[in-house]
Amino acid sequence: METWIARDRDLVWHPYSAIGADLPIFPVVGAEGVRLRLADGRELIDGMASWWCAIHGYNHPEMNRALHEQIEDFSHVMFGGLTHRPAVALATRLAALTPDGLETVFFADSGSVSVEVAMKMALQYQHARGEPSRRRFLAPRNGYHGDTFGAMSVCDPVNGMHTLFTGMLAEQIFVDAPAAGFDRPFDARELEPMRRQLEARGHEIAAVILEPIVQGAGGMRFYPPDYLRGARKLCDEFGALLICDEIATGFGRSGKLFACEHAGISPDILCLGKALTGGYITLAATLTTREVSETISSGNPGLFMHGPTFMANPLACSAGLASIDILLNSPWQQRVGDIEAGLRAGLAPARDLPGVADVRVLGAIGVIELEEPVELATIQPRFVDAGVWVRPFGRLVYVMPPFVISPEDLATLTAAMVRVVNAACPRVTNGAY
Ligand code: PMP
Repeated sequence: METWIARDRDLVWHPYSAIGADLPIFPVVGAEGVRLRLADGRELIDGMASWWCAIHGYNHPEMNRALHEQIEDFSHVMFGGLTHRPAVALATRLAALTPDGLETVFFADSGSVSVEVAMKMALQYQHARGEPSRRRFLAPRNGYHGDTFGAMSVCDPVNGMHTLFTGMLAEQIFVDAPAAGFDRPFDARELEPMRRQLEARGHEIAAVILEPIVQGAGGMRFYPPDYLRGARKLCDEFGALLICDEIATGFGRSGKLFACEHAGISPDILCLGKALTGGYITLAATLTTREVSETISSGNPGLFMHGPTFMANPLACSAGLASIDILLNSPWQQRVGDIEAGLRAGLAPARDLPGVADVRVLGAIGVIELEEPVELATIQPRFVDAGVWVRPFGRLVYVMPPFVISPEDLATLTAAMVRVVNAACPRVTNGAY
């Protein structure tokens, strides 16, 4: 085993990693329910749901069955000129479940690609409408939409390290993110920066793109539904489309099936991914309205210019169908509500710890924000030693566990977070460290 771990360091890239980096890496040999099993036999309670995806936990019998059945039929066929039942059934399901008006579906291979597709759709729509000068996107700061070039261009310019890619990234228009706080009172003046940009540069703006209610990897910030409602109105007033990126929030994570529902709005274009397949296999979807689809289809060239090799992969679509069935047949609202209560109670003690800037919870998402960035090399093994899988980034120690986590496991997870954060943030208190 030592040998292949050494080879991993030497030749395999990991997310946001360096080759040869001396950071701890943990080999997984099994995963079941909410537990990850490491090669040395240790079991970890999973706090990450593999980055928002594994909402039903791992090795789920119904998910496994759906994929086995599809493999027995066929695993993949090209989607150009061919179609299959899993794709049509999943598209039908998504159109019915998502906010009103989203009626057509483009299956992409990852979240980032679904964002590229959404951006292209907005550009082709504006072009077909006779407004080809609308070629830019307006985005709130602190957003995150993926790692491909179009998606990167609308990520927070600082977190997204735009300077590194200067000259390659399209220049977009940014406005300050709404102040944090889901439940806080909202002041309509908070939308003024967006209005001013739309007034001044509306003729250049194809769409506003944002993550509804929860800004994920750009800061794990929650903001009030009124901001989203206001953004929807401004888009209508100034002829820009609204693209909502629900890749992280979709399928119940924020307490609603889709975070847009907190504000009762429908976007013109919606991106889904991650939990779409219950964490089994990569798939994303870009949904849009009939108006947008028909305008693109009737414009010049009258085709939407995107078509990945693995578009609508049948295994992935079958996983999507099974995952949605499992979710909707489960008491997911109750579970997410219970997780929310468990996170609030379990993380509350972190508020009083030195070095903690904020503790916040929404739905099945819990965040401890620190004053200083964590040192991954030291904190990661501490979580593993505490029997939990938590993967912090920057100043954020956060979890979004599978919805099937038990109250006991959740209590263990939150207690470990508080303990490890406490140990990781030594400060001078009463003269002692
Ligand atoms: N948008 C959001 C809101 C995300 O959280 C992510 C993934 N972290 C993406 C887009 C990109 O998805 P993927 O990693 O599947 O390309």
